[in-house]
Amino acid sequence: MQKVQMVDLVGQYNKIKPEIDEAIFSVLESALFIKGPQVKSFEDNLANYLGAKHAIGVANGTDALQIAMMALGLKPGDEVITADYTYVATAEVIALLQLKPVLVECNPQTFTIDPIAIEKAITDKTKAIVPVHLFGQCADMEPIMEIAKRHNLFVIEDNAQAIGAEYTFSNGLKQKAGCIGDIGSTSFFPSKNLGCFGDGGALYTNSDELAAKIRMIANHGQTIQYYHDEIGVNSRLDTLQAAVLNVKLKYLDGYIASRQKLADAYDKAFANLAHAKIPFRASNSTHVFHQYTLVLCGKDRNDVRAALAAIGIPSMIYYPVELHNQKAYQDNKYSYKDFPITCELCKSVLSLPMHTEMQEDQLEFIIQNVTKLLS
Ligand SMILES: *Cc1c(COP(=O)(O)O)cnc(C)c1O
Repeated sequence: MQKVQMVDLVGQYNKIKPEIDEAIFSVLESALFIKGPQVKSFEDNLANYLGAKHAIGVANGTDALQIAMMALGLKPGDEVITADYTYVATAEVIALLQLKPVLVECNPQTFTIDPIAIEKAITDKTKAIVPVHLFGQCADMEPIMEIAKRHNLFVIEDNAQAIGAEYTFSNGLKQKAGCIGDIGSTSFFPSKNLGCFGDGGALYTNSDELAAKIRMIANHGQTIQYYHDEIGVNSRLDTLQAAVLNVKLKYLDGYIASRQKLADAYDKAFANLAHAKIPFRASNSTHVFHQYTLVLCGKDRNDVRAALAAIGIPSMIYYPVELHNQKAYQDNKYSYKDFPITCELCKSVLSLPMHTEMQEDQLEFIIQNVTKLLS
């Protein structure tokens, strides 16, 4: 049996190596490393895949979030509501722009931001909501959009973990994650569901005006070279990364299917474990399983991790500390009682290996051992 990994990027590359290598070499031969034609074609293909009017490549997913907030004209002091249970990037860019991150509780089943908690946190300074489609499942966008509309707030979807997931509204309308709010943002970090071979990210929007603003801000605030209308940043998706992504995007639906198949097998095996709860699947969102995350109960998580590691099964904790308890984001206004669910999750979640290249024998080995430890 091959060594079990959290993510098998080498195996994934080997399956499409000739195509990827050709794409990379064609960039090397043109030497158009910045703004090569592959960038534009990837942006078009991505927009097409998502059903969005515009997609704009940038240097990484964190930049994408920051540029989204700049493009919407958010100003120092504006409050931005986001989840306490997320990766730090979401709150980081809010704080960097001198906006005020307002952290709120998540739903205990889906782990995504709780719309009721959003509404409670709104003040006259609130300007935007940033739902995070955590672990591969959409936040509950219908009530979030309804709240945003009622309070005249922008919505930026942090879609770093759920590219390709689909949300269904109560009227039957289906939309891809990231294409529901004003702007969606994505990361192409190698281990994300659509990963490149380094850093990369994108924004998407259906607004022509926002798309133009995003392009301008990502390009030093200029539309005409050396004429800077606004303070911008330098954030580009490299041609090499775009070339890789152009190949991998064709396989994204297949990758999602592999992840879902693995999740189905895990679900079936772990449904009745005494000491773990399997991931909840919301009826209004597909789940693209960026992570397969168990919630442990009545077992010491460190012991379980150590026992798994000892036999060669890696596992990860996403995330061990709630944002409001991170040193950089502590604020006296928060207390445990604001986030009982998030605090409990941070103590009890455990993510298992999840990727597109899992072998039958590896799967059996994981299932057997996890079952033994958590029965
Ligand atoms: C990965 C991730 C990001 C940041 O993406 P980078 O490309 O690493 O900057 C932002 N938000 C969430 C939820 C993420 O998982």
